[in-house]
Amino acid sequence: MQTLLLWLFYISSFYAFIPGMISRIFGYRVFRKGIGRTEFALTFDDGPDPRYTPQLLDLLKQYDAKATFFVVGAHAEQNPEIIKRMYDEGHLIGIHNYVHKTNWLMRPATVKQQIKRTGDIIYSITGERSTYYRPPWGIVNLFDFSKRRQVQIVLWSAMFGDWKEKLGVERLTEKLLTKLGPGEVMLLHDCGTTLGADPKAPEHMLIALERMLEEAKKRGLRSIRVDEMIQHMQNSPIQQLSFSKRLVVGLWLVWEQCFQFMFRIKTIAPADPFLHYRLRKYQGDPVQMDNGERLIKGDKIIELHIDNRQLFELGVHSRSSAQLAIRMIRRMEKDLPVLAERIAEDIDLAEAKALYGVSMLNRGPEKFGFMVLDLPDGWFARSTKFYLSILLSVIHPAGGARLKVRSEVLVPKMMLMPVSQLLDQMNKQRPQKQVKSRERILEEEQLSLEAELPGVTVVH
Ligand SMILES: [Zn+2]
Repeated sequence: MQTLLLWLFYISSFYAFIPGMISRIFGYRVFRKGIGRTEFALTFDDGPDPRYTPQLLDLLKQYDAKATFFVVGAHAEQNPEIIKRMYDEGHLIGIHNYVHKTNWLMRPATVKQQIKRTGDIIYSITGERSTYYRPPWGIVNLFDFSKRRQVQIVLWSAMFGDWKEKLGVERLTEKLLTKLGPGEVMLLHDCGTTLGADPKAPEHMLIALERMLEEAKKRGLRSIRVDEMIQHMQNSPIQQLSFSKRLVVGLWLVWEQCFQFMFRIKTIAPADPFLHYRLRKYQGDPVQMDNGERLIKGDKIIELHIDNRQLFELGVHSRSSAQLAIRMIRRMEKDLPVLAERIAEDIDLAEAKALYGVSMLNRGPEKFGFMVLDLPDGWFARSTKFYLSILLSVIHPAGGARLKVRSEVLVPKMMLMPVSQLLDQMNKQRPQKQVKSRERILEEEQLSLEAELPGVTVVH
């Protein structure tokens, strides 16, 4: 079960696709990346180091961050008081061999010995057995997957080259901030004495890490231990679905990622994504809007998309459609003011006449001032209906049953709201017009080339 879950999340991110498939083929006990809304996992390899690890522990304490340390057995043996401190301060201690040597150059029995010896050292200091293992350089051999090793292999989803001094604090900070996000397993090093590392590199790491933790605090993100993150994944609602539903969800998440990438979709609140949007030109029939304005073909609109993963999570956690509706309304209430703020600051967005979306769950958008209109019959309406019925049968609390009973009610509708109305509601004003640059004009010409895509906009 866990295997399938891991696999689903691997395929949902591009860069993890191939390594994910490889670990699936070669074994299944590898953890690289988690899920979560506000949690990421800091992991530190090669320590403990008598100079840098205590400084690191001070920093983690200051930000109330929990981390996972993959310690080298020989270093642990020389610094038992640091291991004890890690343990007492609530961090997780994992194994990183007794000496920092790659498993490819050791016989399986030797690797086993390396793990056991380090495990015993940790146990003698903390009184607790460690079952988490990261092989040096992340290089695993086939035997590492053996069940008899009784360890969970933990790799990473982001590494930064922080073991080199020449990378510099600025560049390292930049790299850390780019990767900072929910579910990431970040690999850093608190010791500079291993082969290939620079002795003073951890000094840079500590400065960059402090800056990142400061930013994480602002964004409401926090670092948790790897075992906690694995636990979160095991509790994910995906686990309770049938195989075919999981497959649909997996493909659907891949599709969303492709779509967001291809059409440069922006997210209103990246730390906790719910609404995504893009600016494009309206292609439909003329519509008289509530405020008297007329929307015609070629007018700019802000097309809204609801985050599929969030929609799925809300759907499976809701006991009834009424509860789902309430939860979605709550989320809309959080994101719409932020969108209004963004429009008030962005001259291009402010040129849009209306907010636009397509949805089958259409009892509620009126609450926010959306008009609900029929989609003109055609291939777009039909393909949207098809796509949304599959989607709804997976995420809706009543599942496919509801579709069979009330299929006539589930017709995709178009939702529209004049941008001026949203701004009025939120007490915002359109920004002042400025002279457009040449690039802007070119970009706008491109907008009109993009064709309508079926079934990708869902607004409740
Ligand atoms: Zn290492």
